[in-house]
Amino acid sequence: MRPECLYALFAPLTSLAGVGSRFAKLYTGLCGDKIIDLLYHLPIAIINRKQKQSISLAIPGEITTLKVTVSEHIIPPSPKVPYRVLCKDNTGEISLVFFHAYKDYLQKTLPLNTNKIISGKIEFFSGKLQMTHPDYILSENQIDQIPKIEPIYPLTAGISAKIILKHLNEALSKIPILPEWLDENLKKRENWPNWNIAIKNLHKPKSINDTSLNNPSRRRLAYDELLANQLALALTRNAHKKAPGREIKGDGKLQQKILSYLPFNLTNAQKRVINEIANDMAAKSQMLRLVQGDVGCGKTIVALMAMLNAVECKTQAALMAPTDILARQHFSSLKPLAEAAEVKIALLTGKDKTKDKAKTMADLANGKINIIIGTHALFQNNVSFKDLSLIVIDEQHRFGVHQRLNLTKKGYLPDVLVMTATPIPRTLALTMYGDMDISKIDEMPPSRKPVETTIISNTKINKVLDAVKRAINSNAKVYWVCPLIEESHLSDMAAAEERYVLLNSLFPNKTGLIHGKLPPIEKDRVMNDFANGNLKILVATTVIEVGVNVPDASIMIIEHAERFGLAQLHQLRGRVGRGNTKSNCLLIYSPPLSETAKARLNIMRQTDNGFEIAEEDLKLRGAGEILGTKQSGMPEFKIADLNNHADLLAIARKDAAMIVHNNPNLLDTRGKALRTLLYLFSEDEVFRTIRSG
Ligand code: ADP
Ligand code: MG
Repeated sequence: MRPECLYALFAPLTSLAGVGSRFAKLYTGLCGDKIIDLLYHLPIAIINRKQKQSISLAIPGEITTLKVTVSEHIIPPSPKVPYRVLCKDNTGEISLVFFHAYKDYLQKTLPLNTNKIISGKIEFFSGKLQMTHPDYILSENQIDQIPKIEPIYPLTAGISAKIILKHLNEALSKIPILPEWLDENLKKRENWPNWNIAIKNLHKPKSINDTSLNNPSRRRLAYDELLANQLALALTRNAHKKAPGREIKGDGKLQQKILSYLPFNLTNAQKRVINEIANDMAAKSQMLRLVQGDVGCGKTIVALMAMLNAVECKTQAALMAPTDILARQHFSSLKPLAEAAEVKIALLTGKDKTKDKAKTMADLANGKINIIIGTHALFQNNVSFKDLSLIVIDEQHRFGVHQRLNLTKKGYLPDVLVMTATPIPRTLALTMYGDMDISKIDEMPPSRKPVETTIISNTKINKVLDAVKRAINSNAKVYWVCPLIEESHLSDMAAAEERYVLLNSLFPNKTGLIHGKLPPIEKDRVMNDFANGNLKILVATTVIEVGVNVPDASIMIIEHAERFGLAQLHQLRGRVGRGNTKSNCLLIYSPPLSETAKARLNIMRQTDNGFEIAEEDLKLRGAGEILGTKQSGMPEFKIADLNNHADLLAIARKDAAMIVHNNPNLLDTRGKALRTLLYLFSEDEVFRTIRSG
């Protein structure tokens, strides 16, 4: 139950005077529909209403306060012409402009020959100074009513600066005093105000410094948000750690058999990570481990070793991939290995024929299948296992953080292994995976060759086509990636289908097309034809981004490269350079390129280190955009800015660990305050994992 002190903050915005359903709708799009959402909608700049000594010093474009004498009313001949009031001082003249004016009102507000204070934006029109609809018209003794500094908020059509100020003032009057959840020493050291003071400071800035991300009030609120995030993760992890698990420790026979089939030796990094996983599985607690490793480092074989460990103990293992194509790819590469060791492996996706599916499901339930590869379909209600002890989730960034815990219901206390090639910068990794143990495969198989990357304008597409022709004549395989599947009327994006038509006319019988909407049999056919060399060019949408493995493909061409995230480009490029041939990546852009876009593409040319690329992308684009927040399951922060507040994240992480260590059920005074914090940031889902009090 949400603590009472938060009721006022979680009240709908419609409970504010003047906010009806129309405004509420607009606010929902802008910041959210509750009072707390409006309070956390912070100003991004200020207006400084400088008073000028005289009209002659007024500068067009600036917001200015002036002292003037009213000299003339010019009443318009028709309502279409604005009403003008001429004002002057001994240095010059300015006219005040009013559209749809009420004559009586203006004559009362601005009587002839009186002195007035006016404030608003100075404009220059037909060679003269003017001010349209001044923000303030006051008598001389009222000058104090003009705030020297006004906050500027991000707005949306229908909500003006004046309106939002009014509503915020209402909201600010409802701010409760909340119990302090911060560590007193930290608060003192950082010179942070109380929560309610911090909110007020930020909405009533006194100088531009008060809107800075490094202002103590802003840092305090950012810290609150990061602490809520880290605490929720730490509590979840703690609950998970304490949950009993099974001791899965195989005899290594199946593993040995398969290792002896492999045409290569494992890298030291692979061996180390396989060991870390084995230790977790053998322990009495449930495993929750993330394996991070750049594209091509060989995560699949690491997953297979873990799954064989489960099979050696007469239990089942499941590997879940984010897409149908990737699941099929895993299945076809693991099948021969598994079968060589007489391990029964099967595929289950949402797109299989009903009859095949029924058989697979029956064999899962009776235990005939040892390893199952699939998509989300694996975790639908009607699927049951005989004894599932290990779940491997590949390319996890497509899954939400909370979702993965739901998966464990299919088994009896199953271990969970998550594999990602997404080179997440450390700061982001903490917010996403703060609750998991992390293993890194930080070494590439010796066979991998660096890919030469070229950036080229789409005006030179003929050169590219010539290069493709030469490459195909010397038996190379080419991926050609386009951003969209069908011609979109919204943009001029090179559609995969259209590109296919062109390439197929140039290279008949050698060109294939694959995209997410193809029927599964078609997908298999096209992928197989490309893998076995019947096809030389594979035109694809980003469905091939993750995981696809055709080692002898050596050319990657990406159209509209400027529209992809760097992480995505890196993933795509990682599809080549896997075999013995020297590989190339061509990034085609459509000019003109912005400076940032240029810098981003250049990074791709300079390095093939996924982590470096991600760090640079983070710097250039900001955290939110790195992976496309929505699909990545990455938490979105409202107040914290990871480019600026990375130091706070580190502190919050330690703080959270201490709290969970000393007070895992949040029962003392600070614990109760921390509960309030978790509610404040809607992290209350975590309360299911701890004892209430
Ligand atoms: P990713 O980490 O991107 O999932 P994969 O597991 O698909 O990479 O492996 C990429 C390729 O490298 C595969 O063809 C795989 O067989 C091969 N590979 C894996 N480990 C090694 C190794 N130690 N030495 C040589 N090749 C390896
Ligand atoms: Mg992979």
